[in-house]
Amino acid sequence: MAETVSVLDKEFEVYLSKEKIAARVAQLGEDISRDYKGQPLLLVGMLNGAFMFCSDLIREIDSPSEITFVRYKSYAGMESTGEVNQLLGINRDVKDVHILIVEDIVDTGLTMKKAMAYFNSLQPKSIQVASLLLKPECLKVSLDVKYVGFEIPEKFVVGYGLDYDGLGRNLKDIYQLKAE
Ligand code: IMP
Repeated sequence: MAETVSVLDKEFEVYLSKEKIAARVAQLGEDISRDYKGQPLLLVGMLNGAFMFCSDLIREIDSPSEITFVRYKSYAGMESTGEVNQLLGINRDVKDVHILIVEDIVDTGLTMKKAMAYFNSLQPKSIQVASLLLKPECLKVSLDVKYVGFEIPEKFVVGYGLDYDGLGRNLKDIYQLKAE
């Protein structure tokens, strides 16, 4: 594992190793499997960032699980723009379905708030959220994130699906922006 990496014009240092991530994802899978007790589940991955977490998490879940994806955009570079747009929605009936929204990171919470309002309007049987990362100091809205991988400080991170201006998603570990 490289201790530091450069992505575009920024330097990042390793923060969560792939082993640590894998162990936590396995625990989350156990928690989810225990809670849903074999009931069918629809995982809804938030593109693009959550694709890697989603693919690992679904393999740790015991219930019969389907998967689909939605896409929202709110970030430009390292900043939340405050405006959240839905670029891709769901094209199937989810009435009577248990939905688990799978997100890479909840930062201000604005994206998740918007996604929750959308999913609620589709009247599923239940909705819960699994987010690999949560920055509690950045939350601007109240949100119930039932499954949280790691609570992290207010610092920009890349790797394991998370990007800086489109790059860094392929890194196996999660890296944090280095202090200048
Ligand atoms: P929120 O709406 O502010 O909660 O932001 C959610 C989205 O912003 C996430 O799905 C990510 O795409 C992006 N994001 C927030 N913080 C970071 C970060 O530290 N690194 C990479 N992307 C981030």
